[in-house]
Amino acid sequence: MADNFIEQFIEEDIAAGKIGTVQTRFPPEPNGYLHIGHAKSMFINFGTAEKYGGKCNLFFDDTNPSKEKTEFVDAIRRDIRWLGYHWEKEVYASDFFDIIYSYAEKLIMDGKAFVCDLSADEIRETRGTLTEPGTESPYRNRTPEENLKLFREMRDGKYADGEKCLRAKIDMASPNVNLRDPVIYRILRATHHRTGDKWCIYPMYDYAHPICDYLQGVTHSLCTLEFEDHRPLYDWVGYSLGFSPKPRQIEFARLNLTNLVMSKRYLKKLVEEGSVHGWDDPRMPTLAGLRNRGIPAEAIKDFCARAGVTKAQSECEIGYFEAVVRDYLNVHAPRAMAVVEPLKLTITNYEGSEETEFDINQLDETAGTRKIMFGKELYIERSDFSLDPPPKYHRLRIGGYCRLKSAYIVRADEAVTDENGNVVEVKCTYFPESRSGSDTSGIKAKGVLHWVNAETCVDAELRQYDHLLNDADYSGQDFSERINLDSEHIFAVKAEPYLSEAEDGTAFQLMRTGYYKKATEGGKLILSEIVSLKDNFNK
Ligand code: ATP
Ligand code: MG
Repeated sequence: MADNFIEQFIEEDIAAGKIGTVQTRFPPEPNGYLHIGHAKSMFINFGTAEKYGGKCNLFFDDTNPSKEKTEFVDAIRRDIRWLGYHWEKEVYASDFFDIIYSYAEKLIMDGKAFVCDLSADEIRETRGTLTEPGTESPYRNRTPEENLKLFREMRDGKYADGEKCLRAKIDMASPNVNLRDPVIYRILRATHHRTGDKWCIYPMYDYAHPICDYLQGVTHSLCTLEFEDHRPLYDWVGYSLGFSPKPRQIEFARLNLTNLVMSKRYLKKLVEEGSVHGWDDPRMPTLAGLRNRGIPAEAIKDFCARAGVTKAQSECEIGYFEAVVRDYLNVHAPRAMAVVEPLKLTITNYEGSEETEFDINQLDETAGTRKIMFGKELYIERSDFSLDPPPKYHRLRIGGYCRLKSAYIVRADEAVTDENGNVVEVKCTYFPESRSGSDTSGIKAKGVLHWVNAETCVDAELRQYDHLLNDADYSGQDFSERINLDSEHIFAVKAEPYLSEAEDGTAFQLMRTGYYKKATEGGKLILSEIVSLKDNFNK
């Protein structure tokens, strides 16, 4: 059963006997790191192939040598593997440069391409507008023999960059601007990350892509909507070169998320201008950033599945993505306690220490419990005690009762203040019969507070993040005006010793605080925010 329009097309093609096995490709250009938008493209390309028992290649679109680097190739491979996808073959556009070149000679000999001496500016100026046709190049009627000679001279380095180019000879009056004799080869002296200085002419994307698809045996070339207007050119290349079976291009809507920039060009700018710590900064929407942030690969794939495949351009609320991540972590993340703004709590009638049982994750029956150490001196959150409580305050007040998570009920008796009147310590009484799991005290305590043991706790650095872009409204604002440079906040906190023993990279729910990833930097315990506990998303 087809779940979306792409699958419908594929099923039609299978039913009509046009294809055997489905072959797709994921086609990144190695000019930056993959972002969450690419995760959607992978979800569609790898997912569709898998659904129909087909295959998906990793296709590096490396026709633009000045921006491409091997560093990016390696990062892209790593990120695809992290998401859990497996490509059939790893293919590069540059693998086919010889064939792409000889197809250009064929177009020339068939009278379907010509060498043009107009400059890039002149070509733009003579291309016409949406309402007016373009003007034919004065070089359009060169003979195939002359074109072939000139094209070979271009290849052999006889001309300077931009002095000549090869154009397809289609129709300068076409209502589709992409068909007005588009440039298909340009002269460019740039060292290519794989072919080095072998070539000084490079094919244009629109010409090379259908050829590469065909040579890989791609049946369905799935891409984003901005290529819809290029499909007639994609098809022209296929028909002109006699491809059979000809790959079918199908476009879908890009994934856009509020509060995030998704274009590699802008992400690169953030990195180069030092607005973030690097491509893998936890605030970045790159897959490396999301991984570093502690977001599980499964949650990203789940999000792509729920966002769906459509042809309608839209923007998804970042809150929806966060809600999906939260749902996942809620079920999978072990619980732990850390106190962000510590306030000392002393239990005047308690001596010594004891172990109590703490539920690792109450939603996961297999998770079990672990032991935590209770004692006379603890820390609680400053905001969990008030001398002047507002209405409906369920936390601690003088004469009020609260349960300390997985331990006892306490009553606050006295607040110790400093010379400025700030509370620096709260003195309490505990009730021995109120122990968690065997409470016979009959005392009603509404609030449950998290805490750490002052004697055994460890110092940690807690990092919280705001969104990288300030508001959800794109209207008229340049992205650089919307960058939130103050989006990382650091707190010195007190954490359970258990956290420093946990494996680096583990995601925890810090009770009543949020989901955090544990790391160690220079011997120091770091807790960095993955996603807050609060659900801001309006379903
Ligand atoms: P960017 O604008 O971020 O540089 P791109 O489209 O130039 O993106 P490519 O490396 O060419 O990046 O993209 C590889 C594939 O991923 C393409 O098929 C592209 O259409 C797709 N893709 C890129 N961004 C998104 C997105 N936001 N949502 C869905 N697919 C995307
Ligand atoms: Mg691109």
